Amino acid sequence: MNVALIAHDAKKELMVQFCIAYCGILSRYSICATGTTGKLVSESTGLQIQRFMSGSQGGDQQLASAISCNEVDLLVFFRDPLTMKSHEPNDINILRLCDVHNIPVATNIATAEALIHALERGDLDWREYMR
Ligand code: PGA
Repeated sequence: MNVALIAHDAKKELMVQFCIAYCGILSRYSICATGTTGKLVSESTGLQIQRFMSGSQGGDQQLASAISCNEVDLLVFFRDPLTMKSHEPNDINILRLCDVHNIPVATNIATAEALIHALERGDLDWREYMR
């Protein structure tokens, strides 16, 4: 199972805290992330993370490509809902692709916690059989 992480700047600290809290669960899965998000999370948790480029350099599009290729089973995408970003269309496309490919996605910590517990229970294992 592959977990993907991406957080806007205003939500990076939240992502780090989330990953510290659930490091024990996350360590059982392969994890990928956009560049800066992945760097901060791996530095603070020691988790091994496949890092794409920084979001602004195309990492968000690499993540979109991984979703399209069915390489992502769960996405945690902590968005900043208050500030418009120049690459906002890419963010919307990532969410669109999750809907196209039926990928569980959390955009806030409440949903992320629900999904991480679902992952731990094996509720998302059906995705493995879809490959
Ligand atoms: P980053 O990308 O993790 O490299 O900052 C996320 C984003 O585009 O905000």
